Amino acid sequence: MQPYTFTPIGLIRSPFKEKFGIPRQPALAKSAHMTLELLPPFDQPDCVRGLEAFSHVWLQFVFHDTLARGWSPLVRPPRLGGNAKVGVFASRSTHRPNALGLSLVELLGVDTSAGVTLQLAGADLLDGTPVLDIKPYIPFVEAIPEARGGFVDGPPPTLQVRWNELARQQLAEQPEAAALATLIEEVLAQDPRPAYQDDPERVYGVRLYHCDVRFRIAGGVAEVLEIDRVDQN
Ligand code: SAM
Repeated sequence: MQPYTFTPIGLIRSPFKEKFGIPRQPALAKSAHMTLELLPPFDQPDCVRGLEAFSHVWLQFVFHDTLARGWSPLVRPPRLGGNAKVGVFASRSTHRPNALGLSLVELLGVDTSAGVTLQLAGADLLDGTPVLDIKPYIPFVEAIPEARGGFVDGPPPTLQVRWNELARQQLAEQPEAAALATLIEEVLAQDPRPAYQDDPERVYGVRLYHCDVRFRIAGGVAEVLEIDRVDQN
């Protein structure tokens, strides 16, 4: 077969500045608000006429950050503890023959005042992700409550999240502290650690917006230790 070439139609602006900590599927962190800025020549209001009538959209995008690492026929999904393997086409792994992702996200708004920008919530995408296509979600054909979910039947277990005193004080100094706190709690509740790691002393860091958030996980509880503001990019 001949290869095909696709052109990104837009770029994601996301609070997730690195892969670590990004939820493993959309909607697991509902307060993760993102924008999708359409690129010329797709940034014309005509391209999105009628889209605002839909509450959710499918995004097809490139796993651009892991593209160079290639793929293998078997992968180890985190949901199986990182040991058992399944076929790449039975998984949502980023390491695929064609590094394409598919996420269903909430459409909060469509702004056509300068170019075209979509406001989105609940996505699982890295900042700078190139988007190849947008399609409206059609509930009557695409919502199948009785469908089987294989090894991901049901939501993952979540952690409790606690804040230590220092982290609380540092949070209060951040702009939009309440929204940031909600996002941090949603992200940490998903347990971002690799499946094989369980070291209660280990301190992890996750970058959200302009903040480095340090935390530790022990006994089913994630403790926020510190929040450091870093230069925005
Ligand atoms: N919902 C999508 C799908 O099923 O195709 C993505 C699932 S994939 C398991 C989700 C992970 O992809 C995130 O946790 C994050 O680590 C990673 N990711 C998100 N954006 C990425 C990008 N642009 N390049 C590489 N990896 C990315």
